[in-house]
Order: sequence, then structure tokens, then C-alpha cells
Amino acid sequence: MPTNKPPHAWYALRRTLPPWRFDELLEELKTQLPRYRVDELIVKIDTEEFFHGQPPIQWAKNYQKRLFRVREAMESLGVVYSLNPWITVGHCDRGRDSLSEVRGMQGMVGHDGTTCRVCACPIDPAWRSHTRQVWQIYAQTKPAVIWVEDDIRTFNHLPVRFGCFCPLHMKRFSQIIGQKVTREQLVNALLSPGRPHPWRKAWLDLQGELMIDTVAFLAGAVHEISPQTRMGLMSSGPRLHCMEGRQWRRFADALADGMPLLSRPPMGNYAESELRGFYYSHDSIKLTRHCMPPGTTEQTEVENAPFTAYSKSTAFTFLEMAISFAYSAHGVTLNLFDHCGTPMQADPSMGQMLGDRKAFLTGLAKVSQLEGKFRGVRLLHHDDASRAKQLESPPQYASLYEEGQEMMQALEAMGIPTTYDESNVTAACGQVLRAFGDREIRELLCGSLLLDAPAACVLAERGFARNIGLKRIAPPAPMDSLGAWAAEEITDAHFGGGPKTLVTTRLPHLGGDPPFSMLSPVSGARIVSRLVDPDMKAGPPAMIAFENSLGGRVVVHAWDITSVFGKAFLNPARQRQYQGAVRWLSRGSAAVLATGGGVYPLALRRDCGDKTLLGLFNLSLDPWPFAEFELTDARDVAQMQLLNTSGQWRASSSLKARKKGRHITIRCDASIPYDRPMFVCIRWK
Ligand SMILES: [Zn+2]
Repeated sequence: MPTNKPPHAWYALRRTLPPWRFDELLEELKTQLPRYRVDELIVKIDTEEFFHGQPPIQWAKNYQKRLFRVREAMESLGVVYSLNPWITVGHCDRGRDSLSEVRGMQGMVGHDGTTCRVCACPIDPAWRSHTRQVWQIYAQTKPAVIWVEDDIRTFNHLPVRFGCFCPLHMKRFSQIIGQKVTREQLVNALLSPGRPHPWRKAWLDLQGELMIDTVAFLAGAVHEISPQTRMGLMSSGPRLHCMEGRQWRRFADALADGMPLLSRPPMGNYAESELRGFYYSHDSIKLTRHCMPPGTTEQTEVENAPFTAYSKSTAFTFLEMAISFAYSAHGVTLNLFDHCGTPMQADPSMGQMLGDRKAFLTGLAKVSQLEGKFRGVRLLHHDDASRAKQLESPPQYASLYEEGQEMMQALEAMGIPTTYDESNVTAACGQVLRAFGDREIRELLCGSLLLDAPAACVLAERGFARNIGLKRIAPPAPMDSLGAWAAEEITDAHFGGGPKTLVTTRLPHLGGDPPFSMLSPVSGARIVSRLVDPDMKAGPPAMIAFENSLGGRVVVHAWDITSVFGKAFLNPARQRQYQGAVRWLSRGSAAVLATGGGVYPLALRRDCGDKTLLGLFNLSLDPWPFAEFELTDARDVAQMQLLNTSGQWRASSSLKARKKGRHITIRCDASIPYDRPMFVCIRWK
């Protein structure tokens, strides 16, 4: 929990000390935490491989003695002491059985009837009574923070995928509906294709309320014993939580219970894969922040599972930490060492990296943590997305999630930073607009909107076709069912087009048969791109741009972004097309666009009073020889500084600014390899 120290890169280590190696591991913490420059220790209790199911009361009582010793040791080191019980309702059963420990416990029941023997129904009185006792044993040690795991949800409790449809839940639902409803009837109604069955909203409302009640219960149990302990929430990404009807603000307020709240957004990438995985990570920070109450303290989840260099390198871990601080997190939680009792120093490289990189990350945090806002194209989220979404046949439970990830990743990968704050351009894809009311949609149509085909279909269905430049739009259909099409030809020079500017229609990869919508534009709509056949004969429009009678501007791209996004969708010509679209939509006032000598940028602009932070992560292995940021700002640049590897902000001859009216180009002529992100701090006159 970051204290009132001047802004810096707060490290919170999440560490398990199994009872059978406790003394040795506690000694190691005393020696190593100062070297790793750790500020807070979050003890993980009864974790992973060695967990006991719902923790037995006697086990918790025995372990409490050890927790007091940890707390005392941390006090003498000046390190904050916090706790992270590994389960609330439970992540998984893993062959355990808690029915003898928690008598009469109702296990979580899945949509398919599978019943857990460890993971509990969150409204079950037996589970609540047991958990109250266990958590109060923990709370007696007076931790600064108790973290609630992301198992405080109603999906992914292995072996159950979606729950909880137990008799207690079904009884509550039947009372609301006024008739006896079985699990099978409810699941059929939830997943019925087309217009959502009214039971879906009723069920998600009920689930949302019961989870608010559950976190209020947890916070109450802790605060009865330790009123000063703050509650922390690990979550799984707002797009997934839509599937369980989470109402974020009320949920967060109930958990905070009158104290300042902490949030641990997931960073994904639990094992190292492509650098491109960081698009998800950075978005998870911004989107979770958008849903949580203002003033929430954020400590991201940097995790290496299964906890050795075989899983993740120190270079990858460092980048994950740098992304956390670049996107204004207050701290990082570090789950980097295993839960089998292996000493941290079995591989000294991770601890070494933590200590070595602290100064750089602190230099970054000093600017990124200033009060401010991220600029870019606005993306949409709505807590009601799953209540409104229409499913296709055959229906899948997992399809209830909220779309948006692919649109975010497409824009970011083309050097178009995104934000969940206000902006002069909004992008919408899939069915997310179904959750918005007509008045909100009219407001969006008065501004500037970038739409993919399914989003345009939703607006046409709602009676807004003419406002988006269309007489008609057909639902997306497999391209090969629409004829023999070769490529998309970008023809409009303002959108990077020109003679024979062609991009592939084989999306998201060569073997694909991508969904495409036939557009019938109104006269006055501008054709930006079109399909061509194998003889280069012009076919139907693929992207149109239109200025509507409300004064708004709209660009419609005839692809279903969620289905077609992938490596083949990205292309230098596509980047010019989309950056051109954002320039046109913003009437030449794009907040920020990034280009340079490479691909896969993760770029940012954060405005903080008289300062602006620009950043660029290069998510490809080839170094970028230079980077350029195109900004719109009425102010003049007074000073520019580059962050060096020792964490100091210094003037640099590699930085140049050009201004023409309100258009400013900031260029950095320095090599930007993947492992050395570049940050510029502009001070404005
Ligand atoms: Zn239940």
C-alpha cells in the first residue's frame, strides 16, 4: 500500500512462507527485501499447490502465530505488512474436499450441473460462517491491506466454468420471477439466441446484487476486528465481469466499507509469449481504472507463473513493471517466486533486476503519477453489455463477454493510442452499443465515431442508418459467400490511399473466410476503400466516411473487427488508412498519433497540467531507429526531457519539436529497442 512518501515505484512482493520452511524463508526476506528494494510484503496464505481447500480453522490459528512474527520482522525493516488469503470462495478443487471441514457447505454449481467440493456458493451461510472465522483470525494480525482474490466472481471455479446455479441461487431467482425455475430452464433462457430473454437481465441483476452482498460481508468481517485494514480487489477485466452482471461502483463501494480501496488489475502474460501481449496488459490498467471509484490505489499484478526463468525472463518482467508505471499505477504487486517454499535466491537474477531497475521506474513514476488524463481515441465499456448482447446459434455461455479488446489492439498497434476518458473521436465495435440508450447514441452521433460492421448494424437496427451514411447494411457474412474478392483497395488519398494501394482480404490469416458486410451508402458518403476482384475490377465499398445532419462525422469499416483482427489485418497501408480516419474524424485535431521506423508501437500521451508525458514501448524485436508523435495542442513547447536509464530526466539533442498552428510534431532520433522504452516529458509554456 503506497504510503505518503513522494511518488515512487512502489514494490509489493507477494510471497508464500509454507509452515514447513517458515524460519528459513523469513530469514531470507529479512536479508533480501532491502536489496530488492521492496516496500511492502503481502503474505499469501495457504497457496496453490499446498492449499488445504477451505482453510481449516485450526490450521489458520496455528499459522496466525507465524503471521505475527512476519509482521514484527517487517516493522523492523520498515516494510509494510499486508495479507492475501489465496482463496475467498475458491479458485479450484484440485482433488480437495472441504465438505467435512465446512459442514453442510453448498458447493458452487455450474451451468451444466457440475458441483464443486471446495469452491463454495458465495451466499451459502455455512461458507460465510467458516470464512468469517478464518478471516478474523487473519485480521487479528492487523495487516495494512487484505487482498480479495479474483475468485470473488461467478466464473472459472474449476471444474465449474460458469456458476452459481445451486439450489440456494435457484430459490432466490424463482422468488424474483414468481415461479419455480430449474437450472436447465434458466440456462436455456440466458443463452437463447437473438433478442435477450427477460430472465437474462433478471439473473444478472440478481447475481450482481448477491456479489455486492458477498464483498460487504468480507469487508465487514475484517473491519469488526481491524477497522484500519484496507480492502484490496483483484479482478479479471471488466469485459469478462459483464458476464456476471457486476455493477462496479456499487461493488467497489461495498468492499471498501468506508476505507480507501485498492485495486489489482490483471496484466495477463503469466508466462512469457509475444511482446504484443502487453496490449492487453496496458488496456487492463486503463479499463479497470475506468470502472473503479476515483481515488482507488492501483497496484498491478505482475506475475510469473510457474515462477522460474523458464516461464518468464527478467527483461519481460521489467517491461511489465514499466508498463504499469507508464500507465500511472501507484505500484506493482510482484508474484515472482514459487509457492513450494523454494528460496528466492535459488535464482538471484529476478531480485537483482528489481533492485537495479528501481531508480528508472521511480523516475518514470514521478511524472506518470501526476494528476492527469490519457489522450487518444475513446473506447467504450458498459456494465450492461452482457445484459444487452444478442447471441448467435448455437449459443455459447462464454459469448456473453463484452467485445472491444480487438478494436483496442488494432488501434494501439497502428500507433493510435486509446483512452476511456472523453475524446473528440470514439471507436465502437461489436454489440457494445446495444447497452447504450438512444439519447447517448445521439450524443455520440453528434461527435465523431469509428464503427466496425456489427456496430454499424446495431445503429441501423436502432433507426440511425442515415446518421451513419447508410441506406442499408447487411449483417456480416463469410466473404467467400459474397463472390470472388481479391483485396481491399484504399483509394482516398486523405486516408493513405492511392493507385494500387491494396491490403489483403484473407483475414485474420491466409486460410480465413472473414465476415464482411455489404454496405449501401447514401449519396454524399465518401468511399475510402472498396473490394476489388482478381482483375482489379471495383466491387462493393469497404470503408466509407460521412458527415451527418447532426454535424457529426462517422467512418464505417465493413469488417467485423472482433473476427478479422490479427497479424494479417495490420499493414503499413492499413495504418495510414486508420490514422487518416482518425485525422478526418477529429477534423485535423487528433490528440496523438505515433509513427516511426518500426511496427507494433504501444504509445501514450498523458496530459498532467503544464506537463505532457509521451511514451513508446516497441513491441517488436527490431529496434526502432526513431519515433515521431503527432500532437494537437494550442500551447508552445517550453522544454523537453528524456528519461535516462538511471531515472533522471535530461534535455537531449535527439529530441526535436516542430510546430505549425496547433499541430506539433515531436521527434526522437534515438534507437528504441524492445527492452528500453522511451519517455519524453514536455513542459508547456
Ligand atoms: Zn449458489
